[in-house]
Parts: sequence; C-alpha cells; structure tokens
Amino acid sequence: MPELPEVETIRRDLEECLQGAEFRELRIADPSVLRERQVDPATIAGRSLRAVRRRGKYLVLDVGATQLVIHLRMTGRILPAGHAALPVGAEAVRRRQQFRFRLATDRGEWIFFDTRRFGTLDLVQDADAWFDERGLAPDPLLDQAAARQWFLVHAAGGRAIKTVLLDQQVACGVGNIYADEALFRTRLHPETAADVLDYAQRGALFSAAVQVMKEAIARRGTTTSDYLDLNGNPGVFRRYLNVYRRAGLNCRVCGQPIQRIVVSGRGTHYCPTCQAM
Ligand SMILES: [Zn+2]
Repeated sequence: MPELPEVETIRRDLEECLQGAEFRELRIADPSVLRERQVDPATIAGRSLRAVRRRGKYLVLDVGATQLVIHLRMTGRILPAGHAALPVGAEAVRRRQQFRFRLATDRGEWIFFDTRRFGTLDLVQDADAWFDERGLAPDPLLDQAAARQWFLVHAAGGRAIKTVLLDQQVACGVGNIYADEALFRTRLHPETAADVLDYAQRGALFSAAVQVMKEAIARRGTTTSDYLDLNGNPGVFRRYLNVYRRAGLNCRVCGQPIQRIVVSGRGTHYCPTCQAM
C-alpha cells in the first residue's frame, strides 16, 4: 500500500500535470467508490483545480468549494486515459468496474483505476475539517511541530509501539514500511508497549519516521509490489531499507539476520540484536 512518501510523489506529479486545469465532468463508473457526498459531482464542471494536496495517505484535489478526497488503498492509481497500464478493448469492458471514476479536464481525461477496488472517493466541502472530524493526526510533513506534539501525547497506552505507529489517529501517513524502518533507526523492539517509552524516546521515534519518509520522497518512494508513480516507474528507496522485507538477510549494523514476526496482524521486520526488548 502506498504510504506518505509514495502518495507525496504522486501528488507532486499530479499537481504538475493538472494544476490550473479546468474540470469538465466527474463520471463515477463504480458507484461503490463514492462514500461521503457533501456536494453534487456535477458542481465540479467549469471549475479549475487550485492545488493537489495531501494529508497522510489521502490525496485531495482542491476544486474550490468541492474537494475530491481520494484514498488509493492497495492498488488505486490515477492515470491519464490511454495510459499503457489501463486495459483496452474487451478487457476494458470486462473490467469496467475497475475504472472507478473518470475526470474530464481541458488537459485530457484522467481515470482512477483500481484492480482490487479498495480505493475510495469522498466529495467534501472542506477536506481538513473532514479529516479533523475523523480524528486524523496532523500531517508530519505539512505541520511537523503540531504532528510531533500530537504524537508525544497520543503514542501512549499498552499497545505495541509498532501498532501505535500504524494508527492514523496517532501518526498519519506512516505505514508498514516506514514504521519498521523508524523503529530500527531508534533501536526499539516493535512489540515494546507504547507507554514504556518516555517523551524523549517518542520524540526520537517521531523524528526517525519523518527523516526516513523524507529520504524516501527524495527517491520517489519504495516499490515492493504494486506501487508505481504516475509515469509507471517504481520508487527506488527499497535499496536503502534496513529491515523491511529483509528477513534472513544480515543487519547492516551488527551482521545478525533480520527477523520477521507478526504484530497485530502485520508482518514486522526487525533486528533482534539491535532492537532487543
Ligand atoms: Zn542489528
């Protein structure tokens, strides 16, 4: 699943292609994609795209009074019509439901294509208010000070710190890859109870998560399976990972093999020597 760095990479590319574009039509091919409907999809016609924003793993197409909040989930992609990754002919008809929505603009048509169909669209008036209502944490890149303070307060309780890092109401944008990497960088065992950590340790963990995500953005994200950028290229941060999907390989610090365990149902990679409980 794309995490903050991958969504940010897509956001930057999309903004470059679409900022200022005039929307003509939003056609929803698969009605199950649309959840919240605070505004009529017809109201986007004639409006210009002011900006492509992001909060955590959500993309926001800001069309003034209408904001299209998109979550890519596992396999969602926003692609220009005719893109090589899109099915054509009979295959396209058969897989029609995977064209979840189409956006016609004066710069061509864009399609939200989603093989596994977990991605979502919400049409809201004020995306930030909508995120706040849902308890989403502040974005760690957009407002680092607020996100840091939020994390210090909310990364508490008896849950495993790995589980807490994945909670979008505590650290928004962090997913499985960057949680494992941030824990390695701070030498914390992923099953450590959050409330065992003092403020200094929580602060160090937050800083490590921000740092690793910034480095990943500079490499256009991490591709381990499905994620590709707007041009169909993989992110190349994978080669800089220390633990994620490196089970059985040697730790770059101590030389001992990286292990994989399951924490709250999520595959978790760590070094038992560097990250002793
Ligand atoms: Zn190690």
